[in-house]
Amino acid sequence: MFDFHCPECDRRQLLFSSQVERVINDDQGIAVIVRCWCGELGAVRTGAKRASRGEQAPGFALAS
Ligand SMILES: [Zn+2]
Repeated sequence: MFDFHCPECDRRQLLFSSQVERVINDDQGIAVIVRCWCGELGAVRTGAKRASRGEQAPGFALAS
């Protein structure tokens, strides 16, 4: 479930995974695009920022 503040409803909503429209991984991290019960789309930011080139994500190192 996702905790989402819907500006259209002006209240906190709990949304199910079936209400996820898509997931975007950009420079600011992971954005889960959700559709509220009222039909409004919104984004829930989650996860860590994506590692830039030359950096390794935590716990994910290349073997040498
Ligand atoms: Zn809503």
